[in-house]
Amino acid sequence: MTRRSDNGLRSAISVLERMLLTDPSTDAVLMRSVTQLMALLEASFGYVYRCRESDSDSIPWELTGCFESIDGDLVVKKNSSTSDHIPADIQARLLSGRCIRFDNGEYPHPLPHNHPKIDSAFCIPLVDARRIYGVIYLCNAENGFDDSLENRVRPFIAAASCLLRASHGKQHFQFGPETRELTTASSPESLQSMLDTMFNGVLILDSFDAIRVCNGAAASMFGLPRRELIGETLSRFLPKGAPKLEGRLTGGEKSDTALAARKTVWRGVPAKGADGEKILADVSSFELDFGGQKYKGVVLDDISERMKSSADYHSTLQRFQALTNIVPVAIVQLSRDWECTYANDSWCEYTQMTPDEAHGIGWLNGLHLADADKTLNELRTETSLTGSYEGEFRLQSPLGNITWVKATASCLYAENGEISGMIMTFNDITEHLKNETRLRDIAEKDQLTGLINRAFFNDRLDIALKGVKRFGAVALMFIDLDEFKHVNDTIGHDAGDSLLREVANRLGDSVRQVDTIARIGGDEFTVILTNVQNTRSITAIADKLLESLAEPIIVNNRPMYVSCSIGIAVAETDGSDTKQLLKQADAALYKAKDAGKNQYKFYTAELDRNASLHMLLQQSLKDRSRNDFRLVYQPQVDAATNKIIGVEALTRWSHDDADPIGPDVFIKIIEESGLINEFSEWLLEEVFSTVSAWRKTGNLDVLVSINISAKQFRNKDLAMLIYQRSLAHGVDPKSIVLEITETAIIDDPEIATNTLKSLRSMGFGLALDDFGTGYSSLMYLRQMPLQCVKIDRSFVKDVIHDEEDAKIVFAILGLAKTLGMDVVAEGVDNTDVKNWLIDHDCRVQQGFHFHKPLERADIEQALELEGGSPKVLPFNKRLS
Ligand code: C2E
Ligand code: CA
Ligand code: CA
Repeated sequence: MTRRSDNGLRSAISVLERMLLTDPSTDAVLMRSVTQLMALLEASFGYVYRCRESDSDSIPWELTGCFESIDGDLVVKKNSSTSDHIPADIQARLLSGRCIRFDNGEYPHPLPHNHPKIDSAFCIPLVDARRIYGVIYLCNAENGFDDSLENRVRPFIAAASCLLRASHGKQHFQFGPETRELTTASSPESLQSMLDTMFNGVLILDSFDAIRVCNGAAASMFGLPRRELIGETLSRFLPKGAPKLEGRLTGGEKSDTALAARKTVWRGVPAKGADGEKILADVSSFELDFGGQKYKGVVLDDISERMKSSADYHSTLQRFQALTNIVPVAIVQLSRDWECTYANDSWCEYTQMTPDEAHGIGWLNGLHLADADKTLNELRTETSLTGSYEGEFRLQSPLGNITWVKATASCLYAENGEISGMIMTFNDITEHLKNETRLRDIAEKDQLTGLINRAFFNDRLDIALKGVKRFGAVALMFIDLDEFKHVNDTIGHDAGDSLLREVANRLGDSVRQVDTIARIGGDEFTVILTNVQNTRSITAIADKLLESLAEPIIVNNRPMYVSCSIGIAVAETDGSDTKQLLKQADAALYKAKDAGKNQYKFYTAELDRNASLHMLLQQSLKDRSRNDFRLVYQPQVDAATNKIIGVEALTRWSHDDADPIGPDVFIKIIEESGLINEFSEWLLEEVFSTVSAWRKTGNLDVLVSINISAKQFRNKDLAMLIYQRSLAHGVDPKSIVLEITETAIIDDPEIATNTLKSLRSMGFGLALDDFGTGYSSLMYLRQMPLQCVKIDRSFVKDVIHDEEDAKIVFAILGLAKTLGMDVVAEGVDNTDVKNWLIDHDCRVQQGFHFHKPLERADIEQALELEGGSPKVLPFNKRLS
């Protein structure tokens, strides 16, 4: 059977189209689809699965109907109603709208018990661009299934999906406006857009027999614009009483079976067009219910043309069939010489020409000037090769209105097999294209600033790096606003957003047109510079970027000062690795931040050194048996008696392949490399097992201080982790002091307070390390549950000679005393300092003057010499 005379398909689609008027349920559509397809393709078995929408990758489906065809009658088989997920290999194909054929007894699913053997199966997805609604399996066709079936059933799939979309929206209210109208269908007008896709004329009449809704096909049938038809009574067009349309229909059931049973078709009803022209139509009617109101649906099938003459009839029939195979919008029929013999309403609407103007070669004026040549060329080639054509181009009206269309053409053949002309349809895709652009925008652009987003930035960078050889070096800049979090917290998120927008504008204005600027995170931006000639051209732009933020940004009538730090990495060879470059720029950014912010830094080999250190550190952390990490302990003493009252645990690291580096360096690298949690675990295990051993064997009572870096502190599970370790080793939290720096607290005071409070309530001591190096006041910090301040060694060491330092230390001591906090002076390395501090009532001291950090065995010995006291006391209670 060829497509041109596929009456079976046409009638199967008609059955579906008619369901549209009955507001069918999803299952009704699925059942109707499978039975129609079984009949159409002469299949012995039919299965239909309903697909549910799902966020996950695999789509759940449920067997909702099984049918068997016995002697031409369809028998509903017992439905085992299994639900499952579509097998992954099949799913991808189905989602792309492709049918799948299974031969030689393959059937991809378990069959019910006693099921006759399946020789061949044809799997048909009911999909549209939005989703998959259902899957139909047809099995054991009389003549087998072949690949051409896929094309044949495509119009059916389109019609079924259209219907499923409508029925689906009804339950979920989540589709576009078109469906939503349908679903909340309280008025017949809501069906308008759906009806307009139908080939048959459809009218909806109210209880006074006045036309409420009229689709495009009906309007063109009567040769009147839609608005003139609305409100008219049907008797103006149909002979009074000819078909007894006023017959009373009862009941409000929506079941389409009930409706089908009542359906009557009046064939060849003579109707009148607007200008008195005679039309012959097959007329049928249905009842509709909207919010309790009854309406009548009238379907008009224009058969006048078909009746005219046999030659005419032949071509009209072909046109008719071609139209049903494609969703018809604007339609023209062309002769063999490409002269237009027919143009429908929509064509005239898109191109603002009358049917007369379209006639002959007039229709060509409807093609957009810029597209016409290319389109006609393609049309000619495609149709002569394959008999059909598909393409997208623009139509235009004399006033310059443009309609983007997706056009299809299929050739018409005379009885002798020669091409007699063609039918072209034009689908308005203007809206669709707009949506597509919008979607692309959403996919590629950051919605807040309109800059390119992270995903798209990665693409761009990839492309840029592939072109280094041809287009020159590429520089990547990582830009991070300084203290943005703080700004955001003070001015609120909305104001923060407008601030970011302005920042984006300014940064955007500072780069060249050819450069790419993206926002890749909250306050993180990136710039890709291509064709970079020398370092100066990079620094010029970096300077500009920094300068662009120099002027305050006014938010809520308030000037806000922001600055940014920039890390720069340059790729000079082709095919440089994206990830590597990103890492380098990130490392450089960190450097810029570290060096005081509001500046840029280039990635250097020294940073690279950190990368290799990272690998070694990682190895040390992974393989604990290497014992690369160890703790040393620096005593804290009562300077008046030299008695040790506490020790600070300090970490040391050595690796066969690395030069020795101190903890302030390697801890930073550990932090940068994201290894800090592993490190915390090692540290806590080491400290607690040691302290536990001391308590058990030597009965050594000493306060042990542990350093917790700001990054470590940010782990919100830290308090619990520390607590668990102390429990596991039976260590009294009171014997442990955690040293925390100001930055750990200032970064996020709220979280910090919570963690500190929990630690405090667990019994741990809390000391503020390096006090004086930050900018916060002790008054402010006192709001945190801290017991002890450690005065930074930079003030202590010059306290004798530097008056300023002396003043600061003096002030800290005074304030701490008032606030009732303990004080430890760090970095005491000579007697003068020691005595000065004692004179100023600061007796707990730590420094090389007393002890350097000691290996475990040495500290144990020192503690034993002193003899432990079994009670753990806070610092000042330990002073005798
Ligand atoms: P910090 O917490 O201020 O530790 C005191 C540092 O000062 C130690 O250096 C110690 O050896 C040194 N020091 C003590 N007395 C004197 C003195 O009289 N003169 C001089 N010049 N230096 C003195 P170290 O062990 O190199 O540690 C440096 C920093 O590394 C520490 O500073 C601390 O911030 C960090 N750190 C060390 N171990 C750890 C750890 O286990 N975890 C964390 N998060 N940080 C640690
Ligand atoms: Ca410390
Ligand atoms: Ca310190």
